[in-house]
Parts: sequence; C-alpha cells; structure tokens
Amino acid sequence: MEQFDIAVIGGGPGGYIAAIRCAQLGKKTALIERADMGGTCLNRGCIPTKALLHTAELYGEIKNHGKELGINASGISVDYGVLAARKDAVVSRLRRGVEGLVKGRNITLIRGSASFAPLAGNGSGGQGGSGPGGLKILQVTDAAGKTCSYAAGAVIIASGSEPASIPVPGAELPVVLNSDAVLSLAALPESAVIAGGGVIGVEFATLFNSLGKKVTVIEMLPAILNGMDGDISAGMARILSRRGVEIHTGAKLLGIRQDGPGAVCSYEEGGVKKEAAGSVMIMAVGRRPVSGDLNLAAVGAAETRGFITVNEYMESTVPGIYAIGDVSGKVQLAHAAGAQALIAAANAAAVSGGAADTRAGGTGKKARMDYAVIPACVYTNPEIASVGKTEEAIQAAGIPHKTGNFPAAGNGRSLIMGSLSSPVEGFVKIISHEKTGEILGAHIMAPRATDLIGEIAAVMKAEGTIEELADTIHPHPTVSEMIMEAAQAVLWR
Ligand code: FAD
Repeated sequence: MEQFDIAVIGGGPGGYIAAIRCAQLGKKTALIERADMGGTCLNRGCIPTKALLHTAELYGEIKNHGKELGINASGISVDYGVLAARKDAVVSRLRRGVEGLVKGRNITLIRGSASFAPLAGNGSGGQGGSGPGGLKILQVTDAAGKTCSYAAGAVIIASGSEPASIPVPGAELPVVLNSDAVLSLAALPESAVIAGGGVIGVEFATLFNSLGKKVTVIEMLPAILNGMDGDISAGMARILSRRGVEIHTGAKLLGIRQDGPGAVCSYEEGGVKKEAAGSVMIMAVGRRPVSGDLNLAAVGAAETRGFITVNEYMESTVPGIYAIGDVSGKVQLAHAAGAQALIAAANAAAVSGGAADTRAGGTGKKARMDYAVIPACVYTNPEIASVGKTEEAIQAAGIPHKTGNFPAAGNGRSLIMGSLSSPVEGFVKIISHEKTGEILGAHIMAPRATDLIGEIAAVMKAEGTIEELADTIHPHPTVSEMIMEAAQAVLWR
C-alpha cells in the first residue's frame, strides 16, 4: 500500500491549496479528486459566474450608456453561445493552471472517489480507516470501478458542497435548475423565477436582468442579501427593482408546476397565496456538504448534517484528520477555504513530523484559524464588498462606535465610470471603535468594490486604526479615494 505523509481529499480551492502547502513544507502529499480539478469554485462557481457577469456588465454599459459615452453601437446583442464558450475557455485555462501547479510540486494526483476504509477487512491490521502507528487508511475507487488503498499520516478533507433544494412539490421538475445547471445552459431563457435572494440568487438576477431577461426573486427572509449590512441589502434591492427585477421578500415558496415549456411557482407573501411564472425556476437556496460517501463513521469523526465538526486548528474530532472549506460548515467562500487550507496544512505537517510552518508559531504551537477578517463580495452592478461586522451587529453588541460614509456620487472616478443621466449609486461605509480607532467593519457598494475591500482587510489584519486609513494618501482620481474619504468622515464628521 502506497504511503503518504498527508492525503488531501478534494481538489477545490481548499484542497489544492492545502496540498500545495503540504508539499512546500516537504511532505509527501497525495491529492485525491474524482472530478475536475478546481472544484466548485473554478468549474461551477466563482469563475464561470464572473465570466458571464463580465460580459453582462459590458453589454449593459454600452447598451444603456453607449450614446452618452460617445460610442455609437446600434443593434448590439449578446451571442450567448459565444459567451458560454468563452466562459468554458476561461475555466479550462485556469484548470490547466491548477493542474500545472499541483504537478510542479510533485504532488501525487490520484483520480477517484476517496473514503475511509471500512471497519472490517481493510487489510491494514488496524481498526477501520486507521492502521498501525496511527496511519489513516483510505480507499480510492476510480471511474472504472477499480479500488486501491492508501495510507497517510494525516488526512485533510476538502470535499466541498453541492446545491441544496427545498422539498416542495415540483422541485424535481426538469424546468427547475440549480446553479450547476444554469451555468451549463447553451442559451439563456427569456425569464426566470429565482428562489433565494442570497449571493448566488442575486448574482443570477443581475446576469439575467443585465441581458434583458425578466427576473422574479422569491426570498423567504425579510431582505435580499440578508446578513449583509442593512444599507447594502436595501440599496441593492432598490437598484434591482428600479431595473425591473421583481423582488418578493418574506415570501415562502410553496410549490412549482410545469406550464407548457415554463414554470409556475406558487408562494405565500404576507399571508396571501400568489404565483410567478418564468421560462425556468432557479433554486438558489443554499448548499449542502458533500461528505456522505467518505465513511466518516469508520474513523468516528463527528459531523452535523454532513458538516464535519472542526476546532480552531481545523482538526476534526479525530486527531490527524482535518476538514476545511465548505464541508467544514464555517464560511462558504473560496478564499476562506484557502485560508483554512494553510492552517490545516501547517498543523497536519507538524502532526506527521517535521518542520512547523511559521503559522504554527514555532514548536509546540498550532496554527489557528481566525474568521474575523474575511471579505465577502457580490458581483452585482455596482459591486458589493464587505469585511468585518455589520453596523447592525455592532449596535446590537453595544460596542461604542463611529460610522463614516462617503457617497459614490461625490467620487470623480465613479462619475466618470458611471452615467450622468442616471444617479451614481453606492457608497463606502466604515465603522470604527469610538475609543481605540480599531476598524470594526467596512461595507462598500461601488464600482470595483470587490477589489477595494482588500485594502481595508489588510489594514484590519495589521490592526491599523481609522486614523491610519484616513491619513493614507490615495491616488486621484480613483474609486479607492472613497475609502480615505469615508475614514476621514469617521473622524471629522
Ligand atoms: P469545492 O470547491 O466544492 O471542491 C470540492 C472537491 O472535492 C470537488 O472537486 C469534488 O469533486 C471533490 N470531492 C468531493 N468528495 C470527494 C471524494 N470523496 N473523493 C474525491 N474527491 C471528492 N466563492 C467565492 O469566494 N467567490 C465567489 O465569487 C463565489 N461564487 C460562487 C458562485 C456559485 C454559483 C457557487 C455555487 C459558489 C460560489 N462560491 C464563491 C463558493 C465557492 O465556490 C466555494 O466556497 C468553494 O468552491 C469551496 O471550496 P472547497 O475546496 O471547500 O470545495
């Protein structure tokens, strides 16, 4: 049986980053993936959605503001076939890049589905999933059905998540699509009813709306982008509604029926039963963990509804077995998975003997995951980005704070990039501790917000203060000036 220091299950942004880091730390590493390298993010998530949204944004700009910008483009249209092919080409190029990175590090890439060896008959002389000397025993079954066993000193599970559904009548109809199916469409349907006004639902609403399709959003919670800062969710609801997206919040999906080639969704809003029709119905109601076939019971790793229980060291309830990314049930974001991967790799490398990563803080200490500074982005138009606590959470916690706001309408670059004929939407809002000047949270709705948020995250991570942010000279004319202006508004309002 081939033996590794560390085996990583899953080649998404959690798994491949963990494997690369383990190899950098000098560990003999295996990466086991049963489908395409890059996981959800690269193949069915972050990258394909943003490739589609990029074209949608350009199209909207030229169509709606081209004349004002001095661009004469009559009869412009989107060839969705070409757009879908380009999205696929971007994905393939990046996938080859990830495969190259893995190969370049001498990581053994094993193609197949991994699980912990069953309790009896694993042939290792150990007890289910674990062999002599604490080795973990994995079985990997390839596409042809051939099973091989491998041993590893430590295992990092990064098996990710998949689209969830709501068990309402009609949820299984072919006219009901999840995010995987939407991203595989060869043509965009004329209209869509989207169940779920979270990040994925709102990004799909933006895509369909920008490409001229009719969109209805049905959200059970009181607001779309619920959980984000109130000014952001209210602001985006206003913008989408003004552009023609029909949004129903506090609305409960009751069922779906096929009507000709389309879907009719029934829902309840304010105690009244209503219906919404679309060419398709998109289920964007969250994601569930992929862990059912790992045979966690063989090793006794605890889980809750499939999310593997982990501590701050990313270790499961079984020493030497780690879980990261979506399957750990903490934060469902690719960059959070990547950050957890570095923590798990540092700790797994120490377990399997050898040099500790600097993140582990030297001998005897373990690397610890810190969730305080993880930016979250939504690729709407304008973009949304947020880091730290919301103003509502800060108020609820009774933390003495000051808030500074700067509107995008007052920013030269935003005006240049926007339109003079319609309002320049958006703002930067920064909240700091009233006494210490610590930055508690920042919430941006502005052009390129998703790129801007990294600056605030860096200052927060370095424990910088609001004064330092306000004193940092920003280039002019840029959207980033709004950060300085909002920081100054905290201090000088
Ligand atoms: P995954 O990326 O899900 O990878 C898990 C991998 O493990 C898969 O390749 C799977 O085949 C493999 N696997 C599972 N079980 C086994 C097994 N037993 N044996 C072998 N292999 C196995 N996040 C962002 O940060 N930014 C975004 O803009 C963004 N947009 C998104 C848009 C959409 C439509 C969706 C659906 C998600 C988006 N996300 C985004 C979320 C992001 O994709 C996930 O948080 C991220 O992919 C999680 O990474 P992971 O490594 O935990 O798991």
